Amino acid sequence: MSSTPERLDRFMARANAAYYAARDPFADFTTAPEISQGFGEVLGGWAAMVWHGMGAPAKVSLAELGPGRGTLMADALRAAAALPPFRAALSVHLVEASPRLRDIQRARLPHATWHDSAATLPDGPLIVVANEFLDALPIRQFVRRGAGWTERFVADGAFVEQPASDPTRTAAEGEVVEMNEAALAVVAALAARPRTAALFIDYGPAENAPGDSLQALRGGAPADPLADPGGADLTAHVDFAALAAAAHAAGAAAYGPVPQGVFLARLGLHARIGRLARGADATTARRLMQGLHRLTDPHAMGRLFKVLAVCDSALPPPPGFDDA
Ligand code: SAH
Repeated sequence: MSSTPERLDRFMARANAAYYAARDPFADFTTAPEISQGFGEVLGGWAAMVWHGMGAPAKVSLAELGPGRGTLMADALRAAAALPPFRAALSVHLVEASPRLRDIQRARLPHATWHDSAATLPDGPLIVVANEFLDALPIRQFVRRGAGWTERFVADGAFVEQPASDPTRTAAEGEVVEMNEAALAVVAALAARPRTAALFIDYGPAENAPGDSLQALRGGAPADPLADPGGADLTAHVDFAALAAAAHAAGAAAYGPVPQGVFLARLGLHARIGRLARGADATTARRLMQGLHRLTDPHAMGRLFKVLAVCDSALPPPPGFDDA
């Protein structure tokens, strides 16, 4: 019996909702905050500098989209504790779809407020961080066929193509182009807010290019993305150029994308890890230096991962994006 074809974004949304609700994603992949405490700590410092640039408002919301185990935010808050006026001004907001991950986050961040989407984040000054969030949102894929296009649907664990309207992109015969409407909508909505600065860290090329980037990871190894919906983590490359264009169209300023390694170096990650390592035993010091290398080395995560900031254009440029 064959099933009704399901559009790829709907398949991916359903698969990831099941995956994040039922499984421990960190059994299948690891992320920057899980690799080094320095990652969340320097992002906490970044948020404090952005808050200064906003004129140090008495109240500011610090939000994270897709906080996973809550590690990034816990590390950011520890760093913020060294800056008491910032710590006193901030309230923590977490946008998380998975009830299972919310429970894990609640154990570490008992004073946070949870949201189903970024749409309910409070009005007023807002600083947002999102690490490996946009890559988990559902994509559509279009295939260039002759003078026109088809769109990919999923049926019985395989792609089927149906006629589609023109996604207004260029590609050669048979090439795939991707569109992440959910990511564009999140970025556009934050870009339209006053007194808002958002930082997106994810993986993908700086310039958009055709190509099928849908991938599944299970137990740290690549898997068939269509075979077992909910059994593996599905992600796709983030199209930073399209997100920056969406931010501009909504009236905001966009900065970057800057390679993660460059961004973290500008925020002083090397010095911070060096200080931690000097005060640590040899095993811990080695682990700290390995983490630093993994996050910043161009052959590890330092180049493939990139950082994009989207800010109210009335705010000063955020730290980490100068070309010096
Ligand atoms: N930022 C974390 C986790 C990355 S995994 C880290 O760096 O370790 C992706 C996260 O996004 C998970 O917390 C997942 O539950 C959440 N997520 C995925 N899709 C979502 C959606 N549509 N709405 C809210 N959260 C979502």
